[in-house]
Amino acid sequence: MERNTSIKYYLFAILILGLGNIFVWQFVWGLDSQLRAVFFDIGQGDSIFIETPQKHQILIDGGPSNKVAEKLGKEMPFWDKTIDLVILTHPDYDHQRGLLDVLDNYKVNNIIWTGELSEGKTFESWLLKLQKEGAKISLAKAGAKVIAGNSRIDILYPLELPKKDSKNNNDSSIVARMVFGQTAFIFTGDANREAEQAIIANNESIESNVLKVSHHGSRSASSPGFLANVKPSIAVISVGANNSYGHPHQEVLSNLSESAIKVLRTDQMGDIKIFSDGQNIIY
Ligand SMILES: [Zn+2]
Repeated sequence: MERNTSIKYYLFAILILGLGNIFVWQFVWGLDSQLRAVFFDIGQGDSIFIETPQKHQILIDGGPSNKVAEKLGKEMPFWDKTIDLVILTHPDYDHQRGLLDVLDNYKVNNIIWTGELSEGKTFESWLLKLQKEGAKISLAKAGAKVIAGNSRIDILYPLELPKKDSKNNNDSSIVARMVFGQTAFIFTGDANREAEQAIIANNESIESNVLKVSHHGSRSASSPGFLANVKPSIAVISVGANNSYGHPHQEVLSNLSESAIKVLRTDQMGDIKIFSDGQNIIY
């Protein structure tokens, strides 16, 4: 009798554990079905963390300070010190500086940038750390693709690798479109109107649910023609509060509101998290 009872308890325990496992896996699968993009409130600059449904971790730019390391600590488990891919859109301080801390604190497996040269200590440190990191380094130009599980990144710009010594880095800023299921995000760095026109001419469709507004909302970009082609429902502006540039420009805000695009700003909302389940955008 006693033995039977203990067997029953044993079976009951297995059943409970079994159910527990099923629920845990459903929970994990539930999370797994979403892509997450976090636009860090990083001051006047850009830094965007993306995690795909298969947990590929991607960082686009590092912002103007070491704040990015703290931000990543909130989005990644404490034991996870590996980032699959870092993209530097262009070597300007407000996009590049924080990546020095990222290279110091994380093992970065892949780095995509344009190879364009810049000046100053920060850029020199970038080159040194790039050599030391041991990451696979790729130079980006239009047509390149990154496949991350069931997500894909298409590089749309620059059309050609930039001249190493070009005067304005913004001219060759990487523009990338991330596609997951029926949804897409377009990340424009600090690309200008000339880049926008070239991208429209070079692609059948660049429609994207979410637009990372170029150049912190400067009027050097976000032309009505570009917005009409991207057709975003959400525009994210990564911008510092009371910045000396007057970003975002009123003309850009008007263009966005005239197209009935919902504007989310890091200076007003802090970190902005946007999820995709492949069909819908959730924020
Ligand atoms: Zn910038």
